[in-house]
Amino acid sequence: MNEYARLLVEVGLRVQKGQTLVLDCPVEHAWFARLCAEAAYDLGCREVVVDWHDTAIMRQKFLRAADEVFDEFPAWRTRFLTDYAEAGAASLRIGGSDPEALRGVAPERLARSRRAAEQPLERYRKLYMGNAVPWCIASIPVPAWAKTVFPDCPEGEAMEKLWDAILTSVRVTGDGKAMDRWRAHLDLLEARKNRLNALRFKSLHYTNALGTDLRVELPDDHLWVAGGSQTPRGQFFVPNMPTEEIFTAPVRTGVNGVVCAALPLVENGNIIEGFHFGVQDGKIVEFHAARGEEYLRAAISLDEGASYFGEVALVPYDSTISNMDLLFYDTLFDENARCHLAFGAAYPECIRGGTDMTREELLSHGLNDSIQHSDFMIGTPDLSIVGTTHDGEEVPLFVDGNFAI
Ligand code: ZN
Ligand code: ZN
Repeated sequence: MNEYARLLVEVGLRVQKGQTLVLDCPVEHAWFARLCAEAAYDLGCREVVVDWHDTAIMRQKFLRAADEVFDEFPAWRTRFLTDYAEAGAASLRIGGSDPEALRGVAPERLARSRRAAEQPLERYRKLYMGNAVPWCIASIPVPAWAKTVFPDCPEGEAMEKLWDAILTSVRVTGDGKAMDRWRAHLDLLEARKNRLNALRFKSLHYTNALGTDLRVELPDDHLWVAGGSQTPRGQFFVPNMPTEEIFTAPVRTGVNGVVCAALPLVENGNIIEGFHFGVQDGKIVEFHAARGEEYLRAAISLDEGASYFGEVALVPYDSTISNMDLLFYDTLFDENARCHLAFGAAYPECIRGGTDMTREELLSHGLNDSIQHSDFMIGTPDLSIVGTTHDGEEVPLFVDGNFAI
């Protein structure tokens, strides 16, 4: 556990001497937050500030609080998040919760509370999405989550198995060498990313037996991103641990065809399963889900940009997390097991000079904007992706679910 905590603070964030760390953590993980705080102070952290939350109380709030609460966003909360981000504090978010924590909550309440945060958190979102501050997201198990992943095991055994799976996925074995393994892993992702950037694809064509037949146009000046990102001050950080993906942004209006989900999606404390999207000129014009359709509808209609795409990510079917053959019911892990797309916002770093652009400039370069950003998994063992270059040359990029380049 110490090695995991140290990994997050030292490789995930590289907390600098004199830098503040904001630790966002569920109350049941308090013991782990203490380990992270200790690791941060060992690096010379200025102060560890903890932002506790509790999913059980959040559930009660969504079911029972006064209705007007869902249209409010308190000013102190805006200041808390924005002030620390403006001051360059690092942000560590420890997740891990019941995938169905908000089951039965009115989707409309979830949507209203997200919209209420839009304007107050605009500045914060810009800093965050634009990598002005280093951030890292990781997860640790809770019993309700472990029982969803391993429904046939008693709780104690399910927890142990989920811990094993998480530690394997973040390359922690207890031998003290996780940091070395991460360095090698990040180098590998970097090399593959450079190869993709050199190819400068104009578009990608996805097909598989599930029914996906999708054409995705990429911006002229798009950049593939993998592993880590950098703040303007040069602090390298790894936004997700684990991370196996190499991603970029599509042209907002350049996605056409049908795309089928290969795995369930946990969105806003609810499970959405067996779904597909019909897409025309970038917009989702038709959709259906076998389960959780009302939550899917709420997710893609949060705002105008929520029904357009913001991320195209490549993950080989044959990779560390995928080979565990485990459905995690947590996007942090499932997205790193499969090729995926995201509906909602694009990351500005996905085009050249993007982190210095205004919202309008990003839009004019074809990047989508939204308060939504939700990855959903589309990779299958038979997935084929053919890339077309600017010279019209067709290059098999994925064959049978794996990189062909
Ligand atoms: Zn992703
Ligand atoms: Zn994403």
